[in-house]
Amino acid sequence: MKTMKNYKFWFCTGSQDLYGDECLRKVADHSAKIVDALNASGKLPYEVVLKPTLITQASIRQTFNDANNDADCAGVITWMHTFSPAKMWILGLQEYKKPLCHLHTQFNEEIPYDTIDMDFMNENQSAHGDREYGHIVTRMGIERKIIVGHWANESVQNQLGSWMRTAVGVMESSHIRVCRFGDNMNNVAVTEGDKVEAQIKFGWEIDHYNVNDVVDYVNAVADGDVNALVEEYYSKYQIILDGRDEAEFRKHVAVQAAIEIGMKRFLEERDYHAVVTHFGMLGGLKQLPGLAIQRLMEQGYGFGGEGDWKTAAMVRLMKIMTAGIKDAKGTSFMEDYTYNLVPGKEGILQAHMLEVCPTIADGPISMRVNPLSMGNREDPARLVFTSKVGSGVATSLIDMGNRFRLLVNAVDCKKNEKPMPNLPVATAFWTPQPNLEIGAAAWILAGGAHHTAFSYDLSVEQMVDWADAMGIESVVIDNNTNLRDFKNELKWNSIYYR
Ligand code: MN
Repeated sequence: MKTMKNYKFWFCTGSQDLYGDECLRKVADHSAKIVDALNASGKLPYEVVLKPTLITQASIRQTFNDANNDADCAGVITWMHTFSPAKMWILGLQEYKKPLCHLHTQFNEEIPYDTIDMDFMNENQSAHGDREYGHIVTRMGIERKIIVGHWANESVQNQLGSWMRTAVGVMESSHIRVCRFGDNMNNVAVTEGDKVEAQIKFGWEIDHYNVNDVVDYVNAVADGDVNALVEEYYSKYQIILDGRDEAEFRKHVAVQAAIEIGMKRFLEERDYHAVVTHFGMLGGLKQLPGLAIQRLMEQGYGFGGEGDWKTAAMVRLMKIMTAGIKDAKGTSFMEDYTYNLVPGKEGILQAHMLEVCPTIADGPISMRVNPLSMGNREDPARLVFTSKVGSGVATSLIDMGNRFRLLVNAVDCKKNEKPMPNLPVATAFWTPQPNLEIGAAAWILAGGAHHTAFSYDLSVEQMVDWADAMGIESVVIDNNTNLRDFKNELKWNSIYYR
């Protein structure tokens, strides 16, 4: 499953012809040096491509339209080296459709106190020109990311790299395809939603199949392929028999191997990137897909349980946004299950019936076969592990009836205090910021779901920037949250987003 494309970002410097050719030559030279340094920094996940300095309305319009039409271009980074009268930018900006970044930088880091004269001032005036440009972008109501600081500064480069991932999330959102086996679980509210509006807002194509359509694929998988995958499982994971007969255990595992191969073929043939199942609608499947779904998520597929297509699409989106991160800690579908309310140790045990992505695992992963205590199928095989320590974001996309709201909670993941030998599912344990009391109250006030799309590798800022770019409401719960302000924010948002 492919999660990373060869995207590029265009670097467009604004100026005008008032300053003469020599000044424009220096502007172009400075931009080239900045682009080379950014590409050599090792901080950016995608390449920056230098474009000729923009000094006329016609060239600005042409460049933005070329960016629109170049499938590899995921966004434009703009910078006004000198003053660039902003009326020139109106037409191009009106026609531009992709993510926009305003890098408010300057070629020199320090004022050259000993040599500075008026020629230098006229040539190096982004403090001046970037305000003129920023004015028109704001007046036109165009969403963009503003990054301020010297281009060689590590923090500026990291911010640019983070924004690139958000921009790729915006670009890739438009062709996420979700395959639903079965419908939304009957009577459940928060996992429902307007699929037409989701396609208008996010570009997601959300289709439905009878689960028996995939059963045909599962049954058609050759025994040799199943056995080879079972061998791979046995070589990768620790086997916990829980007193089961070894041969019987292996048969249960083989059922999941056939589901993994068959379902993957089904999804690949139809170009789906996320999948939704429902434990109550399994048709001819012998087991709820557990281990199989865990493995597909690890390969980059989005997933949501009980028909939850919104979370499935978000998991896929967040896997794309984190693609290729060195030492990534993982991204998964998750569910708030049960609390620890002991003072000083408050937190939420995260799990699902089976489907937690192994990318978030900390240490060895075990394979177990246990009853589901729900539904009417044979005991499914699943991967069991605990998860990494560290901060992350838990997100919940909900349909408020007249709009989508993205809820983003910064969470601190902790080690389980003690082993849980009788719990045969993968888990994480986190404390929502600012603490369980305020975090959970804010989550409930905002209408957040029990399902989340979770990642260790994305920031609150990246998710909020994504929501802004998609034109939807976002609400953050973090260490700055207090309930009085939070309630007011929800009220104000309800007016703004109506
Ligand atoms: Mn669930």
